[in-house]
Amino acid sequence: MVELRSLIVVLGDQLDLAAAAFDGFDAGADAVWMAEVAEESTHVWSSKPRTAMFLAAMRHFALTVQSAGYLLHYTQLSAPDNCGSLNAQLQADIVRLRPARLVMTAPGDWRVLQSIKAVAEANRLPMDIREDRHFFSSVREFATHAKGRKSLRMEYFYREQRKRHRVLMHSDEPVGGQWNFDADNREAFGVAGPGTVPPRTPFEPDAITREVIALVNTRFADHPGQLDSFSWPVTRAQALQSLQAFIQERLPLFGRYQDAMWPGDPWLYHSHLSAALNLKLLDPREVVAAAEGAYHAGRAPLASVEGFIRQLLGWREYVRGIYWTQMPDYAQRNALDAQENLPAWYWTGATDMACLRDALVQTLAHGYANHIQRLMVSGLYALMLGVQPRQVHAWYLAVYVDAVEWVELPNTLGMSQYADGGVMGSKPYIATGKYIQRMSPHCKGCRYDPVQRSGDSACPFTTLYWDFLMRHEATLAKNPRMALQVKNVARITDAQRQGVIERAAAIRQGQVGAAYA
Ligand SMILES: Cc1cc2nc3c(=O)[nH]c(=O)nc-3n(C[C@H](O)[C@H](O)[C@H](O)COP(=O)(O)OP(=O)(O)OC[C@H]3O[C@@H](n4cnc5c(N)ncnc54)[C@H](O)[C@@H]3O)c2cc1C
Ligand code: SF4
Repeated sequence: MVELRSLIVVLGDQLDLAAAAFDGFDAGADAVWMAEVAEESTHVWSSKPRTAMFLAAMRHFALTVQSAGYLLHYTQLSAPDNCGSLNAQLQADIVRLRPARLVMTAPGDWRVLQSIKAVAEANRLPMDIREDRHFFSSVREFATHAKGRKSLRMEYFYREQRKRHRVLMHSDEPVGGQWNFDADNREAFGVAGPGTVPPRTPFEPDAITREVIALVNTRFADHPGQLDSFSWPVTRAQALQSLQAFIQERLPLFGRYQDAMWPGDPWLYHSHLSAALNLKLLDPREVVAAAEGAYHAGRAPLASVEGFIRQLLGWREYVRGIYWTQMPDYAQRNALDAQENLPAWYWTGATDMACLRDALVQTLAHGYANHIQRLMVSGLYALMLGVQPRQVHAWYLAVYVDAVEWVELPNTLGMSQYADGGVMGSKPYIATGKYIQRMSPHCKGCRYDPVQRSGDSACPFTTLYWDFLMRHEATLAKNPRMALQVKNVARITDAQRQGVIERAAAIRQGQVGAAYA
């Protein structure tokens, strides 16, 4: 038997032949290893769209690997000898293939890194874990930025990134003379609605994807979500097509409407590129360069382009740095001691709250919701209800096609649930139903009233906002950024407080919010 020099381990979110794991690949001495395993769909109750996204993209990438002339050992989910988990499958294949070492790009998930390392150690195999180049900054660079700072703020990190990578810079100054155009980027659609929004770029499932859809529908029949409208880009060529369409058709209005919501329209002016980016079908550098190019060519306004680039060069890199510098303890944090259970209707969308129903139903149908729906609708409700952060985390990791732990966890546990006590953001994002009323027309079609905080027609968001302030008054009072909101609690009468407490109790007991057929 010819000795196998390196077994290149490729995970479902590492689908790029230009990744560091392939540096120095010798087709005569090395082989590639990929495996579809049930555990990745069951360690959280992964939705059908999410599992289908990963499997379809993996199977297409397998063809790319083979077309490059590389030897590939690929285990399909329904293979009779499938071991069910990454570590068990890798262990079995190491025994069978006897590689001299394992090579891989650093995984995006702490759990997976530990489990692969453990397999290598158990087999006394050297392991070469290489830098993931699909980011502007390495984790080490982030750690250097973070070192010695009392608190971390995305804005400072983002400005450093702009300077270091020369993005939207004019000499040492930001193009346009300011770093931030948030004030221009908060519009709602108004009564007339969004009008004709350029449609999302759909990709009709080919034979490979159709096979995956059938497999997921059978194997994970009881998992949440649907696949009838699955049309995500699952190859690099499709991802590039998606990018091009976004830059030409939606980027100019991305910024202005990035916080807006509209019932029944999940896509609006967003890019829908997160899954392609996270699976490495796209490199963030090419996405940022395309957006910057559109600005310089006069095809998109600066506020929109800066707003978009901030998400990628700023937030996306920042959350990755937080994840890898804070794990593994980060996942256990629960700064507000939240102990409620996630309402069961998060998994079905069966709620009578119009805004939440819309966000949940589209999430389950497409595996997608925009940032404001995730932060200021589903996340906000769970935060103010007081749901255990780990349950909220398990839901977000399960339902979205772009969900990978390094990006999902800091967004959920930190930004949305404030469970890290202020590492990600300086204050909890809380709001009454009036915020949702301002950013969407949902409240018009809802049985609740966003202005009311108690009584039968009170909007649960509004009730829970006051309840949250009352429950955490002492902690929040110490936070200068919350001072104004906390002061308002002192202004409400005892009777009003009692009204909020009673209504919040009814919400927690499930008497409010669930929709019964
Ligand atoms: C509770 C919660 C959970 C989230 N979970 C995930 C997740 O699992 N995976 C994920 O990729 N994003 C996650 N996000 C961030 C963000 O909501 C999604 O990236 C975005 O909605 C994806 O849609 P889009 O591609 O149309 O994004 P756009 O609105 O078009 O934004 C452009 C790109 O910027 C990046 N981006 C934007 N905001 C963020 C952010 N806060 N953190 C990191 N990258 C960002 C994404 O790559 C995105 O594709 C989460 C946000 C919240 C509040
Ligand atoms: S009234 Fe409240 S629950 Fe209903 S749509 Fe508005 S914010 Fe959502």
